[in-house]
Amino acid sequence: MPHPADGQRSIYIAGAGIAGLTLALALARHGFSVVVLERQAHPSPFGAGLQLGPNARLLLDRLGLDAALKKVSFEPPSLDVYPFGRQKPLRALALGQNALSRYGVPYAVIHRADLHRVLLTAARRSASIEVLWSIRQLDLVRHARGISMGVELADHSALNVRPHAFVGADGVNSTTRTDLLGGPSAKYSGYVAWRGLVAEAQLAGLVPLDRTCVFWGPGFHAVTYPLPHQAQINVVLVTRLKAKRAFQATPPTRPKIDRWYLRRSRVFGDLMKIMGDKWTFWPIFTVRTASWHDGAVGLVGDAAHAMLPFQAQGAAMAIEDAVVLADELATRPSAEEAFAAYAARRRKRVERVREVSARNGGLFHLPWPLTHIRNYVVAHRAPDAHLAHLDWLYGFDAGADAS
Ligand SMILES: Cc1cc2nc3c(=O)[nH]c(=O)nc-3n(C[C@H](O)[C@H](O)[C@H](O)COP(=O)(O)OP(=O)(O)OC[C@H]3O[C@@H](n4cnc5c(N)ncnc54)[C@H](O)[C@@H]3O)c2cc1C
Repeated sequence: MPHPADGQRSIYIAGAGIAGLTLALALARHGFSVVVLERQAHPSPFGAGLQLGPNARLLLDRLGLDAALKKVSFEPPSLDVYPFGRQKPLRALALGQNALSRYGVPYAVIHRADLHRVLLTAARRSASIEVLWSIRQLDLVRHARGISMGVELADHSALNVRPHAFVGADGVNSTTRTDLLGGPSAKYSGYVAWRGLVAEAQLAGLVPLDRTCVFWGPGFHAVTYPLPHQAQINVVLVTRLKAKRAFQATPPTRPKIDRWYLRRSRVFGDLMKIMGDKWTFWPIFTVRTASWHDGAVGLVGDAAHAMLPFQAQGAAMAIEDAVVLADELATRPSAEEAFAAYAARRRKRVERVREVSARNGGLFHLPWPLTHIRNYVVAHRAPDAHLAHLDWLYGFDAGADAS
């Protein structure tokens, strides 16, 4: 596809991540020509596992991705919850069939690189989408008739275009947010995610290999789930870490958990031994910005609202954003009106999910004796109460939510 230069039906997006590629696919379905500008030279296999909630899956299936996702994802039968030091789960919160019958789509887990590949393959098949890698420089000027953009491509050639809209899907450190919309930089949350992929055999007997598990601890927690297509278990351990330690010249290579705790929990103790220095250090940043848009420029995904990952919904929110924004761009007379309508549809929901995520962090990390109340409540819940409690989140159809 030659780069579409001008006009009502052309949209430029910065960032070929989850938000950017989903947006491109949704826009193409509405008849737009889309160019995705990516800073990286090629798709990176970065990241680890992602839980893909039914609210996101519903939208991806509608984009025709069901079969491709099924091939590379896994549908855990339950989310098993372990209080600190216990060998047996306090509760197995039903997912699997329970999610399928409640929402008509599964609750799945997937490697980010596999989800990204599914989106990119679909984008490459679309005659209306072009992904340009190794973007060197991007300049944008607003004027009375909209926006003009100059883009320096990988081969140093220049692209000068006047698209209908420009969308920053450029992630947590979005320069669209900071440079074009005057928004804030991302803020360090004080949490670090230590991520790793471990061969199933290494964790056999330590954690269940066929389901999602969350292990609570005093001031830390871990989540494990299988990625059978990679024959690996995804492990995330979340700890608190002061900024001065997180951002010292040489970043730490392993989490620091008091030995006293490690001796009292086989899972945490053994995980630390098995992982050694093989953790990926992932400081968690969040974004809260007053404005998601200005004129024909707007934001989606982490660029607009990166949140704590304790409800496993950041990518899902990015996917919902993308579908809603594509709808609005297709139906509103101007990009400015489309961005305003999109923000009005999305802000409240994103804030609610953000709050639930933050609250989960507190609950997962509770110190003794507050743990008793939390454990009592969870232990006395029916297995399907977990999803019933989250119907507002997982049963939501962002595509049908037009005002
Ligand atoms: C520990 C952890 C666990 C998580 N678990 C889950 C989970 O289970 N489920 C879930 O739904 N979410 C989860 N998330 C959140 C999820 O990973 C993010 O919300 C999601 O990846 C955001 O997608 P995005 O497309 O907005 O950003 P990204 O995926 O970061 O993509 C941004 C893209 O923009 C590109 N880019 C950056 N700057 C520029 C530029 N200037 N020009 C051009 N391109 C640029 C980048 O190279 C990248 O390709 C988790 C996050 C963390 C930290």
